[in-house]
Amino acid sequence: MAETTIERLITLLVRILDLTAKRLSDDVLVRLKELQAIESTGFKDWEDNPGSQIYKAMFTNLEMAEKLGRPCCQDTGIIQFFIQAGTAFPWLAELENCLREAVLRADVSVPLRPNVVECFEEKNTGNNTGTRIPWIDWELVPGSDKIRLSVYLAGGGCSLPGFAQVFMPLHGYEEAYKAIFDKIVNFCVNACPPLLVGIGFAGQADAAAKLSKKALLRPIGTRNSNPKAALLEEQLLAALNRIGMGPGGFLGNSSVMAVHIEQAGRHTAALAAALSTGCWAHRCSLTEINPDLSCEVLSHKQGLL
Ligand code: SF4
Repeated sequence: MAETTIERLITLLVRILDLTAKRLSDDVLVRLKELQAIESTGFKDWEDNPGSQIYKAMFTNLEMAEKLGRPCCQDTGIIQFFIQAGTAFPWLAELENCLREAVLRADVSVPLRPNVVECFEEKNTGNNTGTRIPWIDWELVPGSDKIRLSVYLAGGGCSLPGFAQVFMPLHGYEEAYKAIFDKIVNFCVNACPPLLVGIGFAGQADAAAKLSKKALLRPIGTRNSNPKAALLEEQLLAALNRIGMGPGGFLGNSSVMAVHIEQAGRHTAALAAALSTGCWAHRCSLTEINPDLSCEVLSHKQGLL
């Protein structure tokens, strides 16, 4: 691989990180606008409604981030990459090193807040890399010569409600719902609502946890292809919004942006459920990269900054 191509790939990855940190994706912006409208319904003067004020503050924050060229939240999270990698993508062997180098450069250029603490040493590495970080999840796509790169900035507060647990199937799905509600009620306010709720169901805790995070990567407004799971997404959304936590935890109707469920076949004797949550500043991007390194940012119609 020619040096110039390596540089082009790293530069592209830095620009994707820059975009992800500074501008929310189109689907999140649309949903926040919808929730802002819902939150002001029933109030004569929406300016007097704390929930509406929080949305106003959020959109002012986003405008300022855009104007000043700064991240839209100070917590730029742990960098997680989810890659659907075509096996014929010509730069597959170099991609992991390029992603790591891109994080090191973005750490300075965006800039990213140093968030990575090495376990047991309990020391911040100072550059947003560390053991197994940036986190990279690979899915191979046989025959394709492209990659689809999802970048997710996993903030601290919005990672707090996360959990995975294996339940006895004889207790039904209700035990899992109860655990999910407990987590949301206890940690929602730390996670800067309205939250995006990702739920995974599988036979093992690790599989459910991975699916719950992948559920967060789905565009808001999409539904699970299984009609029963899709119905459950709607029912859980309605039920979780009755908690009344509201935007920013200042009470209101919109504690949750959406509920996404992903599932895998489970063992007959085990039902694993897991929860991952995203915050109002859900920083996630999806970019398709071609073999010649041209690309299309599928999550942000305005493209790279
Ligand atoms: S939960 Fe989200 S919006 Fe709140 S501080 Fe963390 S990253 Fe920022």
